[in-house]
Amino acid sequence: MSDEEIRVWKRLMHSDSPPFGNYRDLGLSNTRKMFSGALRGKFAVPGYNFYNLEQLRAIMAGCAGTDSPVILQVLERNLNDASVRSITHMVKGIIVSRNDSVRAVVALHLDHGTSFESCKRCVDVGFSSVMIDGSQLPLDENIELTRTVVDYAHKYDVCVEGELGAISGATEVATREEMYTRPSQVDEFVKATKVDSLAISIGTAHGPSKSRLKDAPVQLRLDILDEVRARVGDFPLVLHGASGVPKQYVEILKRYGGQMEGASGVGDDQLKAAVKKGICKANFDTDIKLIFTATERECLAENPKEFDPRKHLEIAEARVSEYVRNKNRVLGSQDMGRYCH
Ligand SMILES: [Zn+2]
Repeated sequence: MSDEEIRVWKRLMHSDSPPFGNYRDLGLSNTRKMFSGALRGKFAVPGYNFYNLEQLRAIMAGCAGTDSPVILQVLERNLNDASVRSITHMVKGIIVSRNDSVRAVVALHLDHGTSFESCKRCVDVGFSSVMIDGSQLPLDENIELTRTVVDYAHKYDVCVEGELGAISGATEVATREEMYTRPSQVDEFVKATKVDSLAISIGTAHGPSKSRLKDAPVQLRLDILDEVRARVGDFPLVLHGASGVPKQYVEILKRYGGQMEGASGVGDDQLKAAVKKGICKANFDTDIKLIFTATERECLAENPKEFDPRKHLEIAEARVSEYVRNKNRVLGSQDMGRYCH
């Protein structure tokens, strides 16, 4: 038995930590208190996806810097065995190197896990929250898969997000009636799986084209949200695909050679209405990528002699950070971290 295996075995036998460490040792929180704080304070916790160190720093500056709780998210397809552990250490490094007046409330979350194995892998290395997306499965299979992940994750007090109803990447599919969450299935799903939060499909889509009407903002089906709330009360509900796809950045992207057709996002008014009606987590992925890439295109085109990457990365980081601060104001999450401990 190698030293590493012995270490793992000891941990399994003698402590409640998962094999490669507990998320608390990384300075992370799970999402339970964040969501109870959000429901009490009538705000939503932002879930921001990140793809590199600069985006992570920008998100942390925009959240921890204004005492907003934050859920840092990584997509399953961006993880392999090597990177999953580097991500936890990168996040820990950023948390401990910040000098905020109040302790940052940060969760590290797997976005759209598709199997028990990938959720387990993230729990085992110190993620504090995982999503298991069984929305493509028949209801009974979705329940079974989600329940298996919950049973494992809860052993280590890691939270689990499930999904009912499909949140597609293709607008025409996402807006078909059968893709919306069926409120009649929600309480059965929540009770049978013991999941901690639930992503529901109320008219958003992944990617930069979210509306069924060209160049028009998304119209959320708040009636479905009302119906779901009537059945599950104060249960944490999650809105995926919440990016606003800001016009000014679509224009910058296009001006400097990028292509993005049919861009449309969720307007801040729609987002506010959803939060008011009980959405307590909103996910942003497209906006982070769009703002970062548009800014890099602009900087590289405007400064052809500059080859030091720090110059354009710095500007992209600052713009993402500014975006995050503004979006948090829409969600009402700034200054709310103190209520989430
Ligand atoms: Zn999503």
